[in-house]
Amino acid sequence: MLAEIRGLNEECGVFGIWGHEKAAEITYYGLHALQHRGQEGAGVVTTDGENLKLHKGQGLVNDVFKRVDFSKLSGHAAIGHVRYATQGERTIDNVQPLLFRSQTGSMALAHNGNIMNAFKLRGELESTGSILQTSSDTEVLAHLIKRSEKLSVQEALTDALQSLVGAYAFILLNEDKMYVALDPRGLRPLSIGRLGDAYVVASETCAFDIIGATYEREVQPGELITISDMGMETIRFATQEQRRLCAMEYVYFSRPDSDLNEVNVHASRKKMGIELAKESPVEADIVTGVPDSSISAAIGYAEESGIPYEIGLIKNRYTGRTFIQPSQELREQGVKMKLSPVRGIVEGKRVIMIDDSIVRGTTSRRIVRMLKEAGAKEVHVRIASPSIQNPCYYGIDMSTKQELIAANHSIDEICEIIGADSVAYLSAEGLEQAIVKNDSINQGVCMACMTGNYPVIEKNQQEIAYTRC
Ligand code: AMP
Ligand code: SF4
Repeated sequence: MLAEIRGLNEECGVFGIWGHEKAAEITYYGLHALQHRGQEGAGVVTTDGENLKLHKGQGLVNDVFKRVDFSKLSGHAAIGHVRYATQGERTIDNVQPLLFRSQTGSMALAHNGNIMNAFKLRGELESTGSILQTSSDTEVLAHLIKRSEKLSVQEALTDALQSLVGAYAFILLNEDKMYVALDPRGLRPLSIGRLGDAYVVASETCAFDIIGATYEREVQPGELITISDMGMETIRFATQEQRRLCAMEYVYFSRPDSDLNEVNVHASRKKMGIELAKESPVEADIVTGVPDSSISAAIGYAEESGIPYEIGLIKNRYTGRTFIQPSQELREQGVKMKLSPVRGIVEGKRVIMIDDSIVRGTTSRRIVRMLKEAGAKEVHVRIASPSIQNPCYYGIDMSTKQELIAANHSIDEICEIIGADSVAYLSAEGLEQAIVKNDSINQGVCMACMTGNYPVIEKNQQEIAYTRC
């Protein structure tokens, strides 16, 4: 829940289009649809075949492009980015796309994910004379490409991608081509579509819907796609491995109208609720979901349990963000401002409160208290995903292990801390069942923050807390 009102949680969105005379405007609309993935900054780079033109800024897409004259961003291709940033990274330099100009040509890069060995690669680059200007690991890729002795960008990019460890979805634009790459495990979402003759690429398919594009397919793990006026060419820079798409994209990050790996997000959340009701039933009068991302799971839970779904909580859409507030006290106040219980519905009732996940426990504690203050007789918390006990090294801001309530407390303790009458989480099997399609090699998901089973390992994982996106 609270995805868009909390703000910082989702980790960046990328968009690209090739072969359309209104490339910049379309990218602007695409970024709008991806706004929930990052609200700290946004940018667009276009090419007209000779020059790359950039506009970027801090803030929401609307604010960044409020006074932009799109005729100054003319061109038949564009890439765009919405940025999420952790504390200390909020400088305009880190807002993407990053644009690099040199005598041999320019290139722009937009990235979602986390390069786990960026720190090491950065050290190597600096020791051989490269000067890096931002703290973003995206810049590392640009320098690796520049440093490569290969003649074509495609070959240089292949070399560079092979030295990266981590989770990434990249779009690179130069004067005459657009390159699209996904990490060898496919941890981050990335789809390709068509808009007439134009090619489009986006983190989520909701960006295709807003511009009227049709979905074609997923970018495959370890695939490098080159798009130009000659069409689309694809190669592999890594051997095909089972996909490990981030399960939290289904649980919380992505928009319900997006399809990830051809599974609709709302439908998968509803199934999470159905599985949760099967695994952890409880006698109650109503089921309610924490708006917005838990509504689908609550509908599923109600449907399976036969207990009516009610709107027991209302979200105030016009307040600021909470998750980024520095202190716990301010965070709690933020939650209070953003949600209100519907007294007339919950008073005197035994309430099943569905939330998609618990990170620190702040939200659940606050909401349980709110419901009880509004007269709820009992509040049973049901979480539509397994407990989060491990940090994410793949680009999602999950806090440190010390802050994760489930890493440090048993379910009974959590129940007591948040003041609920009972607490239950969905099992890993239940989650997998709700999101995995069983008909292809691409079926796997990453659930490392819940299970501890990390699909990509890099030495010294603790040291890789780096500027990700
Ligand atoms: P907390 O209050 O710290 O327990 O945060 C849990 C709430 O934040 C849940 O209601 C989720 O909807 C949402 N959430 C889940 N994952 C994240 C994340 N990585 N960053 C921020 N919020 C999240
Ligand atoms: Fe997603 Fe969790 Fe895996 Fe990170 S560790 S990629 S948040 S499922």
